Amino acid sequence: MSTLWHVLGAGSLGTLWATRLTRAGLPVRLILRDRSRLASYQAVSGLTLVEQGQAHTYPVIGETADSPGLIHRLLVACKAYDAQGAVAQLAHRLAPDAELILLQNGLGSQDAVAAQLPQARCVFASSTEGAYRESEWRVVFAGHGYTWLGDVNHPTPPLWLEDLHAAGIAHEWSTDILTRLWRKLALNCAINPLTVIHHCRNGGLQDHRCEVAILCSELTQLLDRCGQPAAAHNLQAEVERVIQATAANYSSMYQDVANGRRTEISYLLGYACRVALRHQLSLPHLQQLQVRLVQHLDAHRLPID
Ligand code: NAP
Repeated sequence: MSTLWHVLGAGSLGTLWATRLTRAGLPVRLILRDRSRLASYQAVSGLTLVEQGQAHTYPVIGETADSPGLIHRLLVACKAYDAQGAVAQLAHRLAPDAELILLQNGLGSQDAVAAQLPQARCVFASSTEGAYRESEWRVVFAGHGYTWLGDVNHPTPPLWLEDLHAAGIAHEWSTDILTRLWRKLALNCAINPLTVIHHCRNGGLQDHRCEVAILCSELTQLLDRCGQPAAAHNLQAEVERVIQATAANYSSMYQDVANGRRTEISYLLGYACRVALRHQLSLPHLQQLQVRLVQHLDAHRLPID
């Protein structure tokens, strides 16, 4: 009998994982924010995943943090700013040998969760899959991609990777997950804030080549100082390639701002600036970018953290 997968958060990625695991016949429970969210979920017949225009609904059982039962495996699928608080609400239910898979973008939230649960195994993930909520309890699988998973303390892959294989979740065990997370963070810092400030699609940054190049140079210095030379390798060339390949897209941060949603700034550009400060590294353009982004968020009455 497979270990039960508890999925914390029924948003885009939580639904994408919960539905595919369920479809593979694996046992899944969905942990919702509170009783009113549970009641709203129970009023529909399950989670719906739309893939290539085809919608399928999966009757995943919902519960809340107050529900009974030990949790052995927890997929944390909320935003970076919610992860620590959401996991804390479940601390009383976590088994001594609990394993957590942290899907959050950026850096900082993973360490915060791991520090609050020193006995648990925390696996960090970095994903290029794309999904969005079309409506309540209904998610569109928008972009196939890959999920890299790794554990900074134990290089041995967990046995449950078999479940991901069975569920068709494209993945790879990574022994350098921090490098992957840093690289993704650097790409994000070089692209996403500028798309918000210049109010443009990714391709619009082709008109701001110098600004992008200066940011890449400062981010490269930061990665080198943090002992992440592999994440720094050819950063500018990859940033330019991503800008070109995704020219028609709006970045996730742009979409958050445009839809009046809180951004993950503290775990992306904010994290990079804090680490630079800690290393007494002067990165004036990156710091200035953060000031401009914070001003922009404030002007749009959005949280600045
Ligand atoms: P999302 O759609 O906003 O989903 C987050 C979910 O977490 C929401 O359903 C929210 O509940 C739930 N939640 C928050 N606090 C909770 C709590 N205390 N208890 C239970 N549920 C709670 O976010 P997402 O797009 O899936 O993103 C999750 C993470 O993955 C982010 O760090 C994001 O950057 C990263 N990521 C996303 C994608 C993507 O394509 N979406 C791709 C790569 C990485 P409510 O519904 O009640 O608000």
